[in-house]
Amino acid sequence: MLDSVSAFQRAKRINGIEISQIVQISETAAQMRSNGTDVIALSTGAPDFPTPDFVIQAAHNAALAGQTGYTATAGTNELRDEIARQNNASRDQVIVSTGAKQVLANAMLATLDEGDEAIIPTPYWTSYSDIVAMAGGKAITVPCPMAQGFKITPASLEEAITHKTRWLMLNSPSNPSGAIYTKTEIRALAAVLQNHPHVWVLADEIYEHLSYAPFVSFAAAAPELANRTLIVNGVSKAWAMTGWRIGWGVGPAPLIRAMTAVQGQVTSGACSISQAAALAALTGDRQLLTDRLQDFDTRRKLVVAGLNAMTGITCPEPDGAFYVFPNIEEMMAKGGFKSCSDACNWLLEKAHIAIVPGSAFGLAGHARISFAYSQSDLNNGLSRIADALKKLR
Ligand code: PMP
Repeated sequence: MLDSVSAFQRAKRINGIEISQIVQISETAAQMRSNGTDVIALSTGAPDFPTPDFVIQAAHNAALAGQTGYTATAGTNELRDEIARQNNASRDQVIVSTGAKQVLANAMLATLDEGDEAIIPTPYWTSYSDIVAMAGGKAITVPCPMAQGFKITPASLEEAITHKTRWLMLNSPSNPSGAIYTKTEIRALAAVLQNHPHVWVLADEIYEHLSYAPFVSFAAAAPELANRTLIVNGVSKAWAMTGWRIGWGVGPAPLIRAMTAVQGQVTSGACSISQAAALAALTGDRQLLTDRLQDFDTRRKLVVAGLNAMTGITCPEPDGAFYVFPNIEEMMAKGGFKSCSDACNWLLEKAHIAIVPGSAFGLAGHARISFAYSQSDLNNGLSRIADALKKLR
């Protein structure tokens, strides 16, 4: 047994790839809780609402009606057609996958050759760089500091493009910063891309329905790039369906075909029952989304105000998603913390509050706090941070 363990060797392709820091922190918090410590975790990006009843009912009906076998690899016709209809596309331009995450993985595996580059505006959702690396590509992270609204500028995009660039991975609204690209900003980026026809755009719009400022889809703002744009979306966040694992990609048919070939060898396709549930979500009443958005907006204001009232923390108001991404450098200096990771570990150990260091998203000096939690958890979490900060003086 020991021999077989010591003989284990990782593939070079996954060297440096570890279990996501977000998962690690959440697991540590869960472990502390099971040991009897009262930990508040504001670390994960899953809504605390339940999946809507009508969606669960649709899944139940589908299962009882026998929709329990493999579906077509790219998804059921019914779901693909509905997604196509809502995106002014045709069925062959749509793939349904096991979460938006698998859409990203399919896209990278289907397009990247060794050393090909993907431009990733930074801060970025932790998985982007690892998915690119696993597919043999090279993540080109472009710093987008707070003073820039955490968004990539046309000039820095231009500078990052090389002959090896395959993708610009744009996430709006963004995890972790909440930044939303305006139509004008998208058009300015599109103008740069017009001069580089070999660069494709992956627009991850999974937080579309969690926008507190006007949201514009990359596809709508830059239709001239439709023949090299992949829109990524899904039901996980807006419909509180993270566990159902349904996401989709809408893009040019040859890309979708290549992604379908990859998916066919990895999962055969998404869960049949979840696909029926996602169809119900997409075609169902959206009042619930509006109500929940209002709820999230209340929490957003509560967290931003609470954090800005503390010395050592500067928190810009996010335009979308359910995270704030404050700057904590002053707090770090005050506490003598060498890294934001040290500061977050200290908060977990001393104040029993779990938040994720900015370095996990490629931008040190920050932390990500999820407000997809109850107001009472948020209030308790904020007072724990405030009390901990007082001890630093
Ligand atoms: N993109 C972004 C920006 C995300 O934050 C997430 C989830 N954390 C995903 C994609 C993946 O979503 P899914 O659960 O549908 O795989």
